[in-house]
Amino acid sequence: MSIATSYIIVGQGLAGTTLAWSLYKEKIPFVIIDNHHQHCASKVAAGLYNPVVFKRMVKSWMVDDLLPVADDFYAYCEEILETKFWHKLPIKKIFVNEEEKNLWRKKSAENLYLGAIEEDVAINEIDSKEGLGEVNNAGWLDLPLFLEKSKKFFLGKKLLLQQQFNYDDIVLSENQISYKDIITNAIVFCEGFQMLYNPYFSKLPLIPTKGEVLTLEVKNFSLECTLNKGVFLLPLKNNTFKCGATYEWHTTKADITLNGKKEIEDKLQKFLKADYSILHHESGIRPTVVDRRPLLGSHPQYNNIFVFNGLGTKGVMLAPFFAEHMKNYLLNKAKLSEDVDIKRFFN
Ligand SMILES: Cc1cc2nc3c(=O)[nH]c(=O)nc-3n(C[C@H](O)[C@H](O)[C@H](O)COP(=O)(O)OP(=O)(O)OC[C@H]3O[C@@H](n4cnc5c(N)ncnc54)[C@H](O)[C@@H]3O)c2cc1C
Repeated sequence: MSIATSYIIVGQGLAGTTLAWSLYKEKIPFVIIDNHHQHCASKVAAGLYNPVVFKRMVKSWMVDDLLPVADDFYAYCEEILETKFWHKLPIKKIFVNEEEKNLWRKKSAENLYLGAIEEDVAINEIDSKEGLGEVNNAGWLDLPLFLEKSKKFFLGKKLLLQQQFNYDDIVLSENQISYKDIITNAIVFCEGFQMLYNPYFSKLPLIPTKGEVLTLEVKNFSLECTLNKGVFLLPLKNNTFKCGATYEWHTTKADITLNGKKEIEDKLQKFLKADYSILHHESGIRPTVVDRRPLLGSHPQYNNIFVFNGLGTKGVMLAPFFAEHMKNYLLNKAKLSEDVDIKRFFN
């Protein structure tokens, strides 16, 4: 017996999951197909959202628009899933030197996310002698929990198939698409870095960017903020912390490495004075884009084959806004922003 649905979403990472929730809100039928790739970015991401780009102390791209949508969106999912995964938590940057502190001070007049500077504040086991700057309106999404709860929810409603999507099984006709026993109006590919193997979209300039991250246990130590100095140290629960991350551009080789671990530990030991043990060492591949903007749009030849990808290093903030943007494009033919429309690469 065949299944009829409006959309097939390929991928249940952050992009596919947020798009699914956007459609769910509007009661639009969909089926998600996901192969649970071990190294998908969403499974290992720390899930931090930081409205500031530390290098230049400027606001992150579109942050004033993105954050209010993210707040409402994740709150909606939390309510349906009866689980808390969107956490407000300050990020405190430990200054490297006086120059950095002065830049923070100067830029804080035009960037209200750059909050108070703390000098002479002692945090137990932390070397912060140059002082700390607090980022306003930061936090983190417990991504593994959000994805797991969403997975169970969609499985329960028979909206998720756990399998590989095979491009060869697509049968395109004028007004509809058949895929195995599913008949649908359109397919939206949300495949993260695996888009590189998708014959419809492999030419888009996606840069697979590997990241490694550690989960640590630090006994008798707690934090009420995320610390950042070269690497972040995010408090989870029961004396455990996430720490990372590394950036290795242009690779799909997602093995964990001694070099990656050393790079994180060297940076961590510059400010954490306590002993710790490593509980997990993980890696994933981020779907980043040449111009650091998401990839949304339809295939130039097949107007019922779509892509939603390129969330890069800041997926947590970007995903809700652009899932809604994608939904409006799919349902209402609303114009896509030129910044994210894949047409920008068609020349
Ligand atoms: C180490 C690390 C740390 C990070 N930290 C942060 C952070 O702190 N804050 C932040 O905002 N972002 C962070 N990111 C980035 C963030 O993880 C990504 O922006 C986001 O997760 C990308 O989600 P995605 O759904 O596009 O891709 P993915 O997470 O890769 O998901 C794609 C999904 O599609 C499935 N799939 C692909 N192809 C197929 C197919 N043919 N058939 C079936 N299923 C398929 C995969 O199995 C997977 O489930 C981090 C990333 C890494 C690697």
